[in-house]
Amino acid sequence: MTFQVINPATGEQVREIPVWDDSILEAALAQVAEVTPGWVATPLDERCALMRKAAQVLRDNKEKYAQTITLEMGKLIKDARAEVEKCAVVCDYYAEHGPEFLQDEIITSDAGRSYVAYLPIGTVLAVMPWNFPFWQVFRFAAPALVAGNTGVLKHASNVPDSAMCIEEVFCEAGFPPGVFRTLMIRASQVKHVIEDPRVNAVTLTGSEPAGRSVASTAGACLKKSVLELGGSDAFVVLEDAELDDTVNTAVASRFLNTGQSCIAAKRFIVVDAIAEDFVMRFKAGVEALQMGDPADESTTFAPMARVDLRDDLHKQVVDSVKAGAVVVTGCTVPDQAGAWYPPSILDRVEPGMRAYHEELFGPVAIVIRARDEVDAIRIANDSPYGLGGSIWTGDNKRGENLARQMQSGATFVNGLVKSDPRLPFGGIKHSGYGRELSHHGIHEFVNAKTIWIK
Ligand code: NAP
Repeated sequence: MTFQVINPATGEQVREIPVWDDSILEAALAQVAEVTPGWVATPLDERCALMRKAAQVLRDNKEKYAQTITLEMGKLIKDARAEVEKCAVVCDYYAEHGPEFLQDEIITSDAGRSYVAYLPIGTVLAVMPWNFPFWQVFRFAAPALVAGNTGVLKHASNVPDSAMCIEEVFCEAGFPPGVFRTLMIRASQVKHVIEDPRVNAVTLTGSEPAGRSVASTAGACLKKSVLELGGSDAFVVLEDAELDDTVNTAVASRFLNTGQSCIAAKRFIVVDAIAEDFVMRFKAGVEALQMGDPADESTTFAPMARVDLRDDLHKQVVDSVKAGAVVVTGCTVPDQAGAWYPPSILDRVEPGMRAYHEELFGPVAIVIRARDEVDAIRIANDSPYGLGGSIWTGDNKRGENLARQMQSGATFVNGLVKSDPRLPFGGIKHSGYGRELSHHGIHEFVNAKTIWIK
């Protein structure tokens, strides 16, 4: 059995990498278990210094890693470079702030002295997706390793080279071998790893079905889990929004990474008073995107990551159109090799259509019309997901008030929803539980231990 690297822009197989059998997996887990006590005991300032070196390795090899990402999953080369840089930033962030986040928290009680110590819990398994193949891993690994845990990665099957490059970053930075290991295993082997007594916790970023499966195994083993799952973020446009900025951000937010982002704006909920104007301008912005070779610097719109994902997306579109949704632009599969799908808009999406209820993980925006702000928030919350969302209005106070009513892990007012190491990231409802980034992220995989001294 092999992992295949397939260039999404051409459909050509670039190379094959063998899947590990059980004996190689066992050797890797044994190595990680052996190195873990030493890593736990390594002083925090040394762990932070190594994380700074990891940031440097990322910057020194930015071009190589960016090319790997673009070849494997089709991201625009300039976005791939930005992704590698963002990973370096998160490594620096936790190297700088880790000591402050992990310092003992003094609590006054009946003790002579009592406090909470934030101590590592051991080895954490990360099951990760392909859409930001470096960023998703580093935003887990930087805080987990600084906190004194060791990490093992099961990456998505279509990005095996990225998976191996990430282990290389930590090795070249000087982390002891085994503190971070990439496991070249299939999804079917994940259950066995979670059940292994040498693994203490699991985090998964990916789809709802994968989340359910991992969480149920972790639950049966009584192991901590964090889930970062899908989203169908609302982008609510009110009648007093400044439309130029709103539409520019709408295009960026939906079509960045060819729409394959968990926090992409997916449902454009627009009040009737400006819906026609918004759709007309949105269409013009979307049609200006230039589909082309992602390795070419001038391209503004890349292929999707895999043909099967493209075909699934198109089926969701076709079913929604059959149910009455209106095609504004795109929505046809181009007659060319590779995982291409044009930037697309569906208007008049309503309850009962797949596009209304399901996540569209690709370059298709849906427009849902609302009567007013109350109706818009009702629609925004009429979703199984609750990851991010945004509100567009000329009145920040009005936006803030509505933001607090939106059922999501984050709501931005007049801004593009994005991840930022300084701000917690995560969802509610079927978008998962737990938080990454900020001090919340580093506290997910630690033992918040009470120390009481008479
Ligand atoms: P996916 O199919 O769930 O894959 C994600 C990872 O889980 C891959 O490593 C995959 O391995 C593994 N996996 C799949 N089924 C599994 C199972 N039953 N048990 C254990 N592991 C399993 O998701 P995807 O299509 O790659 O990613 C897209 C989804 O991820 C979208 O829903 C998106 O919104 C979500 N996402 C969420 C966030 C967030 O932060 N909330 C960020 C990015 C993406 P294989 O590749 O070998 O199948």
